[in-house]
Amino acid sequence: MKTRVAIIGGGAAGLMAAIVASRNGAEVCIYEKLNRVGKKILATGNGRCNYTNINTSIRDYHGKNLSFIENTINSFNIENTLDFFEDIGIYPYIEENGKVYPYSLQASSVLDNLRYEVNKYKIKEILERNVKSLRKNKGQFDIITDGGIFNADKVIICTGGRAGSQYGCTGDGYKFAEMFGHKIINQFPALVQLKLNANYLKKISGVKFDGLVSSSTDMVKIREEEGEILFTDYGISGPPILQISRETIKHLYDKQKVCISIDMFPNFDKKTLYDLLSERFIKLKNKTIEESFNGLINKKLIPVILSLALNEYKEEKCTKLNKKDIYSIVNILKEWKIEVIGHNDWQQAQTTAGGVSVDDIDDKTLESKKEPGLYFAGEVLDVDGDCGGFNLQWAWSSGYIAGYNASTVI
Ligand SMILES: Cc1cc2nc3c(=O)[nH]c(=O)nc-3n(C[C@H](O)[C@H](O)[C@H](O)COP(=O)(O)OP(=O)(O)OC[C@H]3O[C@@H](n4cnc5c(N)ncnc54)[C@H](O)[C@@H]3O)c2cc1C
Repeated sequence: MKTRVAIIGGGAAGLMAAIVASRNGAEVCIYEKLNRVGKKILATGNGRCNYTNINTSIRDYHGKNLSFIENTINSFNIENTLDFFEDIGIYPYIEENGKVYPYSLQASSVLDNLRYEVNKYKIKEILERNVKSLRKNKGQFDIITDGGIFNADKVIICTGGRAGSQYGCTGDGYKFAEMFGHKIINQFPALVQLKLNANYLKKISGVKFDGLVSSSTDMVKIREEEGEILFTDYGISGPPILQISRETIKHLYDKQKVCISIDMFPNFDKKTLYDLLSERFIKLKNKTIEESFNGLINKKLIPVILSLALNEYKEEKCTKLNKKDIYSIVNILKEWKIEVIGHNDWQQAQTTAGGVSVDDIDDKTLESKKEPGLYFAGEVLDVDGDCGGFNLQWAWSSGYIAGYNASTVI
C-alpha cells in the first residue's frame, strides 16, 4: 500500500513537496482553493521568477530560529535546487548579483515545467476546494473542504502566509497549525512599500532616482540599501525600500518612531557636493535658484527640496544663496529625513514575517512534534527572506524536505 500524502496548498512549496513525495513512491493529492495551482509563481520576479540566488546565506533570512532555517536550506541547497530545475527543463540565467531566473525569463516556464512533473507522476489536483479544517481520525487525517471530506495518511501544510493574498493565501495554515497545538508568531507584511508622513508626496509622486536609503529610530540605524527609489502619493517604493521594509516595520510595531533618510548623492561626500553646487551657482549666475537645479535633480523635486532646506525662498538669482543656505541644501540632498507611518497591506507585500513557530517542528524532517504525520513547508512557517530569490528558495528547500520525509516509509 502506498502512503497517501495530502498537500494543502498548491503553491511553490506544495508543488515541490508533491513532486518529491510522488517520486519517492507516495500517492499524492494537492488540495488548492484557486482554480489552478501555482498562480503566485507567475507573478514572481516581475513575471520572470527569480527562483533562487547563488549567493544565498543565512544573512538573507529572518525568523526566530535561524539555525532551523540554515539546516533546511543546507539540506536541499542551491546546487540541489539548480540541478532539480535543470532536470525538469529550467536552464538558469544568473545575474551578476547572484539572482537566478529561468533563461527564458518567463515565470510561466517554471510553472509549466513543475506542472509537467505533476502530470507525469499522476499527482491528483483537487482544485477550487477550500480546506476548512483538519483533524486526526483513527490514525489518519480528515481533510475537511467546502466540497466534502477526504483523508490521507500524511498531511503537508503548504498554505503560504498572508502576503499576496489575491493569490489565495489568507493565513488559513495558522488556523490549522493551532488546531494541533502549534504556537503562532504574530505576522506582519514584509518586502512592502512604506507610507510616509509628508504633505508634499502628491507633488513628487512618480519621481524615480538611484539613491541610498536607510531607516533608523532615535537610537539605532536599522538598515541601509542602495538602488532605485520611487516616490508615490502615499510614500515610497522601489527595491531598496522593499529590502529595508521588514526590519523597519518591526520597529514600528514595537511602537518606536522610525524615519528614513535618503541620500540622493551617495557618490559625493558633503564637501564635494557643496563645492559642486557652489561652482554651479557661479557658472549659472543668471539663473534663478530653482532654474539652477534643473538638470541636477528631478524637476518635481526642486521646489520641495528648496522649501525643506531654506524654509522660505524667493525667486531670486542663485548667486544670492550664502554658505549656510548651500550647506542646508546639501544636508537635505544627503540626509532627507521623513517619518515612516505605516506600510501597504497584504496584497502588495511579497512575503510574510512571522507564522508557525518552528520550535515545535523537527528541523531534519519538518514534521510536527505535536502531531505525528503532520508536516509544514514554505511561507506558512516563521521564516522570511530578503528580496533576491530567497523566499522561493525557502519554499523549494522546505517543500523538498517535507515531501521527502512525509513519503518515506520507515
Ligand atoms: C508579487 C510577488 C512577487 C514575488 N517575487 C518573488 C521572487 O521573484 N523570488 C522569490 O524568491 N520570492 C518571490 N515572492 C515570494 C514567493 O512567491 C513566496 O514566498 C512563495 O511563493 C511562498 O510559497 P508557498 O508555497 O509557501 O506559498 P504560496 O506560493 O503562497 O502558495 C500557497 C497556496 O496555498 C493555497 N491555499 C491557501 N489556503 C488554502 C486552503 N485553505 N485550502 C486550499 N488551498 C489553500 C493558495 O491558494 C496558494 O496557491 C514574491 C511574492 C509576490 C506576492
